[in-house]
Amino acid sequence: MKRIRLALINVLIVLMVSACMAIDSEPTPVIANGQQAGAWSVAPKSTPLPLRFDLPTFVPEPISNWRPPLYPVPWAISPYDHFYFTRPMSADNVNWPLSYYRYGSIFFDNIVHTGVDIPNDRGTPILAAGPGTVVWAGWGFFTEAPLNRDDPYGQVVAIKHDFGYRGQQLYTVYAHMEAVNATLGQWVKTGDVIGYVGSTGISTGPHLHFEVRLGENTFYHTFNPELWMAPPQGWGVLIGLIMDEEGQTLNRYPVEIRPEPEGKPVRTIKTYGHGATNPDPYYKENIVLSDLPAGIYKINLEYDDKREQFWVEIFPGQVTYFSYHGEEGFSHGPVATPRLDFLPSQSIDSGP
Ligand SMILES: [Zn+2]
Repeated sequence: MKRIRLALINVLIVLMVSACMAIDSEPTPVIANGQQAGAWSVAPKSTPLPLRFDLPTFVPEPISNWRPPLYPVPWAISPYDHFYFTRPMSADNVNWPLSYYRYGSIFFDNIVHTGVDIPNDRGTPILAAGPGTVVWAGWGFFTEAPLNRDDPYGQVVAIKHDFGYRGQQLYTVYAHMEAVNATLGQWVKTGDVIGYVGSTGISTGPHLHFEVRLGENTFYHTFNPELWMAPPQGWGVLIGLIMDEEGQTLNRYPVEIRPEPEGKPVRTIKTYGHGATNPDPYYKENIVLSDLPAGIYKINLEYDDKREQFWVEIFPGQVTYFSYHGEEGFSHGPVATPRLDFLPSQSIDSGP
């Protein structure tokens, strides 16, 4: 069975590499085909092509896109937030996700991106985002075949953290490493150098592919890292749920986020595609944009030939939620009441 699976994966890798060369335009928006909007469950095992890979070229983001220092971890103002991790790159390197290839991006029709990509020079130190035990170090992570140098994730470190979230175990995964600086079973603390940026596996330029997994350490249990990494101080996070008039999530739907007053960078991002992505247990979002300086933003989208717009405010260190529901238009989410039960739960010994 395993041999069949590996053979299939090899075929898919060939397909994927050729697909990388051919795709140079964004797919058009499609309406979800009966996908559950926000059910907190992992994708079924029958989801096709359980693989991820990266864009053919990386456009480096200028380091001049300076960010303030991060909030200390764990950081959460509302009981629904869980910024438990620091960033896996030091502040003097790029430590934010590549803007155009976020969690939930779709490639080659139905291959979903299960993490975020943080491009940096080859050899840049990769840091543990939180304390825990190394449960994978080296090749073969995705194919579960140690020493397999054809593994799409390349060289990987995976950490089983010392804490969980609401009774579920947390893991982080660091892929495409040039070199690993950790050993299986080793305990690491936040900020330890666990490896170095590379381009091993299915990758087309030096970067870190970073995943957050909750519940189990599998491809099907990833969540958006932008909701788990502490924001820069004074900056916040925008979370949205975009649906059609029947309440179905709109997949790969372009949304423009425009700071006001004008003059600052305008971002166009897309909602998640279908596939092995999981929405947050509380927000049930299908779009996330982190690292927004506090202030007023206008959200623009087109629906049914109408241009719709809505204003939101981003607050320091907080999550701002909005939703769009077909003909009913935009709305804010319920205001969260601050409480003090946001701290990580004890580690759950559920195995690696
Ligand atoms: Zn990636």
